[in-house]
Amino acid sequence: MAKVYFRYAAMNAGKSTQLLQVRHNYHERHQKTLLLKPHLDNRDGEDLIRPRIGGLEVKVDALVYPDTDLQILVEGKLQKGEKLDCVLVDEAQFLSGEQVRELCGVADFLGIPVMCYGLRADFRGELFPGSAALMALADDIEELKTICWCGKKATINARILDGHVLTEGPQVMIGGNETYTSLCRKHWALDQPLPPGVNLE
Ligand SMILES: [Zn+2]
Repeated sequence: MAKVYFRYAAMNAGKSTQLLQVRHNYHERHQKTLLLKPHLDNRDGEDLIRPRIGGLEVKVDALVYPDTDLQILVEGKLQKGEKLDCVLVDEAQFLSGEQVRELCGVADFLGIPVMCYGLRADFRGELFPGSAALMALADDIEELKTICWCGKKATINARILDGHVLTEGPQVMIGGNETYTSLCRKHWALDQPLPPGVNLE
């Protein structure tokens, strides 16, 4: 039976690198993948996946819009005679709950495995909608570990502005001056994005 997989992390855990490796493994065996990524803005390159360390960027097969029905999208490709062995989703945290249920339909009714990569929690420490639904529904859930500057496991993708941890604001912010860093829960709560004595300003 085809499964829905969710691989989640705070950022910087090499999610995109792992996703592209899985895709490569399929292609080496002459199998076909469908690479999807949610649409967020109209910046150049939003349809590309860039691995953080080395490797070439890869163009996605389709962007997912808020009104995209993912089961219908996949069914349409099968009806055109395309062969699909795996559906891969980058930035899966930005899917809607409905779209995650559609991906479950792809696994359950079309028999195609679905591998989703994404963040668990946003900078406020709250689940993203796609991650919440995947946590509830995925068959196989695994954490890709990343660490805080203190060496403990990072669980928060912290939003940083002027050297401070932000805990309020919209879940998705585009084009601002903020940056993101992986922090453990304690250093996120203490507003310590850097080790004591380090100041990058
Ligand atoms: Zn820490």
